[in-house]
Amino acid sequence: MEKSELLYEGKAKKLFAVAGDESKIIAEFKDDLTAFNAQKKSSETGKGALNNEISTIIFKKLEENGIETHFVENLSEIEMLVERVEIIPIEVVVRNVATGSLVKRLGIEDGKVLSPILVEFYYKDDDLGDPIITDDHATMMELASSEELEVLKAKARKVNEILLPFFKEKNLRLIDFKLEFGRDRDGKILLADEVSPDSCRFWDINSGEKLDKDRFRHGIGGIKVAYEEVRNRILG
Ligand code: UDP
Repeated sequence: MEKSELLYEGKAKKLFAVAGDESKIIAEFKDDLTAFNAQKKSSETGKGALNNEISTIIFKKLEENGIETHFVENLSEIEMLVERVEIIPIEVVVRNVATGSLVKRLGIEDGKVLSPILVEFYYKDDDLGDPIITDDHATMMELASSEELEVLKAKARKVNEILLPFFKEKNLRLIDFKLEFGRDRDGKILLADEVSPDSCRFWDINSGEKLDKDRFRHGIGGIKVAYEEVRNRILG
């Protein structure tokens, strides 16, 4: 598997073409950390490798449970081989517990258990600060068809149903998470990007300790130790 040209560099990953195979991409996980639309930046040695490892475990778990993902195989500590997809520019956020931007926007009490749970769409555009959008905005802007939006919602809910008990068994509360999806060459929708403590919030079930990127967002520190704790628990 030979890495070819750099196709794209994002905040947390670099994407490379694969020599001789147009259908695949190599995702390289970076140590960089960004928050608040990249206004806050840092780096944590080993973070990329941990997110690669954690995402791999989660993608495999989801595949076993009928969610198709872009994951193909692990190539190295920081490299994952994935199917090449056209990313749908919608961030799908699932919330089990109110925190973060939801609390700021609607004044809901931090930590309130949400019933029913929330599935939200955000327009993936850094210049605009990823604004929240409705289904009508998404179809008006031709980000996805209304049929595709229903598929995104159903898949996001199914991911939550699979991951909630999985993490609970590891003494982790899955508070909320962000998913990205892409279309393969046949238009089939695959879960893409990553599922890691950069894109999910995990609270320890007993102490409520935050074991995710909120440690960076709020300057708590101990990021690597927290990500290692998530890795160790889901491996155990
Ligand atoms: N999230 C993400 N990328 C983003 C925005 C949010 O991965 O660009 C994740 C975040 O880690 C959390 C969930 O989506 O698990 C909901 O985030 P929220 O809208 O509360 O964002 P905040 O503004 O508080 O980061």
